[in-house]
Amino acid sequence: MRLSVPAFAKVNWMLEVLGPRPDGYHEIRTVLQTIALADVLHFERTEEGIEVVCAHPQVPAGPANLVFRAAERLRRTQGVKAGVRIRIEKHIPVAAGLGGGSSDAAVALLALARLWEIALDPEQMLDLGRELGADVPFFFIGGTALGIGRGDEVYPLPDVHADILLLANPGFPISTSWAYGQLTKRGIPGNISVCSRAWHRAVGVWPAVRRDEGGREVVPILAIVAGNDFEALVRERYPELTRGLDRLRGCGALCVGLSGSGPTIFGVFESEREARWAESALAALGWWRARTRTVDRPEYWARLVASLSGEASGP
Ligand code: ATP
Repeated sequence: MRLSVPAFAKVNWMLEVLGPRPDGYHEIRTVLQTIALADVLHFERTEEGIEVVCAHPQVPAGPANLVFRAAERLRRTQGVKAGVRIRIEKHIPVAAGLGGGSSDAAVALLALARLWEIALDPEQMLDLGRELGADVPFFFIGGTALGIGRGDEVYPLPDVHADILLLANPGFPISTSWAYGQLTKRGIPGNISVCSRAWHRAVGVWPAVRRDEGGREVVPILAIVAGNDFEALVRERYPELTRGLDRLRGCGALCVGLSGSGPTIFGVFESEREARWAESALAALGWWRARTRTVDRPEYWARLVASLSGEASGP
């Protein structure tokens, strides 16, 4: 049996780091969003063993790969005898704040449960995902969601739609653990408050929900985008990010932001013309760019279900 499944990237519409926790992690509040940029994972059931390959030079093979770890954990906990060969077709920039590894791992768990014929309830799946990484559980929900705790406790929010979303990346990786380490050194206040901006936005978003002609719920983008606590830090360390953000703003973006701990930045545009202008302004800086859009929860699940049932092959 073979399956090809898309693993969508995410952006963080906002991200707050509230403080260090007794378990060594950081307490965060974030609003996450799945987007159309995606890796594609190809699965082939084999007699035994786990093999994970990826042509991308920054993606490790073997046990260092999150997909390998997902497969190994599922196989061990469920006593599976069969094996799998997985090829990761990488389109999401690596260590870029776009959640590529986490999305790959979540999709691997879903696909392998099908390939190996394992019946897992959603709670077991969430627990397995959480053990692999704080962003993994979000990819079992998709669309727009609030993440609290380590970001691994996720709650669906009404979907935000942005049809013209421009991603830009200066081409170097940023390690998330480095970014958290730097924030800690500077001293985060440490008062884990439930009255965070993200919390207010998430609750306050409900009255802003409207329905479009098709009857789908739409949240005005500006009701949800509200800054990122990593931004000042990474802009200070990498001043070119300020230039990128200024270009997005200068070309007319409705809102701009940093995803995760960067270095990917994004701009939401109303007009094609302005987005194209921004794209060429970033091309002039020599940055990687991708024109994409949000993927809401119904589309996210429709795409995954179609691929998992073998009806479609990736994006
Ligand atoms: P995080 O916030 O979790 O660091 P990110 O989106 O910034 O996520 P990823 O693209 O997930 O970054 O990569 C983080 C690290 O994980 C990289 O250094 C990479 O070597 C490693 N990694 C392991 N498995 C994968 C995978 N399947 N895809 C991408 N990176 C992977």
